Amino acid sequence: MATQTLKYNATTNYIAGKPDSNGQQRMDVISPLDGSVISTVLLSTASDLDKAVNAAEAAFPAWSGTPIKERAQIFFRYRELLLRNRKELAVLVHTENGKTMEESYAEVDKSMELCEFACSLPQLVQGELLEVSKGVECRIERKPLGVVASIAPFNFPNMVPHWTIPNALMLGNTMILKPSEVVPISAIRIAELLKEAGLPDGVFNVVNGDRAIVEAICDHPGIKAVSFVGSTKVAKIVYIRATSTLKRAVCLGGAKNHLIVLPDAHLEMTASNVVASMSGCAGQRCMAAAQMVGVGGVEHIIDQMIIEAKKLVPGKNLGPVISKTAYERITGYIAEAEKAGAKVILDGRNPSVEGGAKDGYYLGPTIIDHVTTDMRIAQEEVFGPVISIVRAKDLDAAIAIENANPYGNAAAVFTQSGGQARQVMERASAGMIGVNIGVPVPREPFSFGGWNDSKFGTCDITGKSSIEFWTQLKKTTTKWNPEGKTNWMS
Ligand code: NAD
Repeated sequence: MATQTLKYNATTNYIAGKPDSNGQQRMDVISPLDGSVISTVLLSTASDLDKAVNAAEAAFPAWSGTPIKERAQIFFRYRELLLRNRKELAVLVHTENGKTMEESYAEVDKSMELCEFACSLPQLVQGELLEVSKGVECRIERKPLGVVASIAPFNFPNMVPHWTIPNALMLGNTMILKPSEVVPISAIRIAELLKEAGLPDGVFNVVNGDRAIVEAICDHPGIKAVSFVGSTKVAKIVYIRATSTLKRAVCLGGAKNHLIVLPDAHLEMTASNVVASMSGCAGQRCMAAAQMVGVGGVEHIIDQMIIEAKKLVPGKNLGPVISKTAYERITGYIAEAEKAGAKVILDGRNPSVEGGAKDGYYLGPTIIDHVTTDMRIAQEEVFGPVISIVRAKDLDAAIAIENANPYGNAAAVFTQSGGQARQVMERASAGMIGVNIGVPVPREPFSFGGWNDSKFGTCDITGKSSIEFWTQLKKTTTKWNPEGKTNWMS
């Protein structure tokens, strides 16, 4: 572990409104930009989690009893703080995750949009009231669950935590965030800014760590709900473990997004969209294009994709992948596909890097043609700036290929034919569909969430659907009419 002076202070936990660092065990935090150690992160223990849950439990009565319109005032101020600190937050994302500054700014901007939606929640959760018999009223109110947990992956250190923080807190819950141990720095700054916005101590807490702390979260009796975003393997583990202790859980997993491209698709728009989707954030987005299904003659589109992809320069407008291990995993998939007979028509391995950060984990955009569906690269999540191209004789065959993959985050179609597009909209087995759009992320108030092996649990994680996840219904019947006789059912 690093002992020299580091770029960022050792990352602590954040409990009850202040940094907290009892634990002894730490791990290096490495910037993928150049492979340097930039900080260390605490590997918390179950007793650190207990402390955070105690703080969140203590804060819950006052916070859940605060009128939602007052809670909204804090998030109006917090959204302003995100704007005021936009550059600093983007630099943190860039440094710990490696994505370009432009992509890092976009991440912070999306976090602001998530706060804007949360500030609109008073308009959406008014409840219901009806006089059901003379003088007898039934009413329904949405009540928070209590202490909830949010577990995040490495690929969006700022945005993914904001998928859950604003909505869960605005709805009256208190929270423990467990960031990815690979990118823990942004989360502490988020905690500091929430405090600066006026959030009472203990409402939001950060507990750092790895697998052990995730398991402790799943098992902790004080935690009522768990949201998770990460790989499918871990999403399944967390869903099963959290629900086995009777918690509510929504667990988002990995993806293998299929883009069906028809010969009549608009040439430049399609090529630039497909390339942007496969390579944005170095292909480390759960919404990234992983597999293109070419229907019939799409050679002209593939040629244009190569032209577009060559505009991406590692170190300039394409960031590195997260780690040496990730680089080796991705290049392993490419080599195996090549060996199995696929053709690498644009090879991003061992690229020259602008700025010369030779120790960063850079990989140029890679396009692999003539992939067949039995190859491992066609079936598994690669999570890098790589797209494989499989061929289908017609649209039915293309949709069958999409339907056969076990994931179901996103699917897209590129065509100028409304009828063909509608076929994909109706028949693709995915939660988020794009028509002539490569990254079909629903914007607020629409919710985010996949199908099949890309999500376990019933609600989506953002937007209106998340209201259901973060609240429970209280049904109250009142009778205040002394003159009332016995009424039917009351
Ligand atoms: P990951 O599953 O390795 O880690 C996610 C979280 O789980 C981290 O906080 C980590 O500490 C914890 N964890 C890791 N192994 C664990 C284990 N065995 N038991 C319990 N907890 C464990 O994911 P990652 O590598 O950080 O992120 C990339 C993955 O996340 C990709 O598969 C990507 O598709 C997925 N992702 C999905 C979405 C979505 O919306 N569906 C969004 C972003 C990322």
